[in-house]
Amino acid sequence: MLAITTPANDVQKLFNILEIQRPSGSQTEEDWVTNNLLSLEGARMDAYGNVFVEVSMDKSTTMFSCHTDTVHPKPHADYKNKLVIDPMTNHLFTDHKSQLGADDGTGIWFMLAMIEAKVPGLYAFHRDEEVGGLGSSASAKDNYEYLMALGLNRCVAFDRHYYEDVITHQGTRCASDEFAQALSNELNITPGFKFKPCDTGVFTDSANYTHMIPECTNLSVGYWSQHTIKETQDVGFAEKLLARLLQIDWEALPTSRDVTDNDFSFDDYDYGFYDRGASDMLELCEDYPIMIAEILEDYGVTVQELREQIDDKLDLVATKTTKKTQPGYDWDSPPWNTPPWSSYK
Ligand SMILES: [Zn+2]
Repeated sequence: MLAITTPANDVQKLFNILEIQRPSGSQTEEDWVTNNLLSLEGARMDAYGNVFVEVSMDKSTTMFSCHTDTVHPKPHADYKNKLVIDPMTNHLFTDHKSQLGADDGTGIWFMLAMIEAKVPGLYAFHRDEEVGGLGSSASAKDNYEYLMALGLNRCVAFDRHYYEDVITHQGTRCASDEFAQALSNELNITPGFKFKPCDTGVFTDSANYTHMIPECTNLSVGYWSQHTIKETQDVGFAEKLLARLLQIDWEALPTSRDVTDNDFSFDDYDYGFYDRGASDMLELCEDYPIMIAEILEDYGVTVQELREQIDDKLDLVATKTTKKTQPGYDWDSPPWNTPPWSSYK
């Protein structure tokens, strides 16, 4: 940690979660789930490995959702993330050698705190989200009867970048505008919050329950550049959001969407994008080689790893080389851009 005063106990729990790299299928993920989730009162693991915790379900028709896996490459699973906080912005990073994993460690932190505060709900800790939503997909099938018997009205995932989105579409309609607006209003009680319905969501676990649960959304939790080594989490924002989540009367939110309502958001079918031409990967690489190299670097792909993959493709026997260390980053002129918003302190 760079210059930081002793964090509040709760924030230290977030740091503890983010230190652990938990790629899907890794021993570190398995151990983390066993040690931190199965020890919770009433925790149950389904056949796939998802963990569910019921809190006062006689008073709740709400499921909360996050995922336990991170995008870290498997070979690095034993390494701990080195966390660095920018005291000026209260943004958390790693040393830029690995992804932070706020996607979705921040969602895990929220849910553990909500369980501790006894906020009624069904808490679903999904596995394998990052490799295709496999855990939630299995859950929707294997746990169908159990979940339907709970009469769930809403599934709220905490797995969205940025600050303002209450997702109504993950490709197709997943939550009603009325629900998303009502939840936005509840969130915006916190001064400075500007949540609003957003129809440009991408996949997360709640999408796998839209045929069973009317309102399936995903909320911005204040991470940014997820899946890359520049990933950051606005800690102040997350603290404020968590404080609000503990206060919301989830059962008072409206339920409007019919589970058969699967309309497309218009933006996803904006044909302008496809008309730009460079839809072919090779063409894109030829047109923007420098940018593609930058993007690969952002995603934590090293020159050595890329060389090894190319060697594999060429079917060459890679000569055994001593492992080179990753090139260092110049902290005086950091390679990332300052986020274009003022942060929450
Ligand atoms: Zn995620």
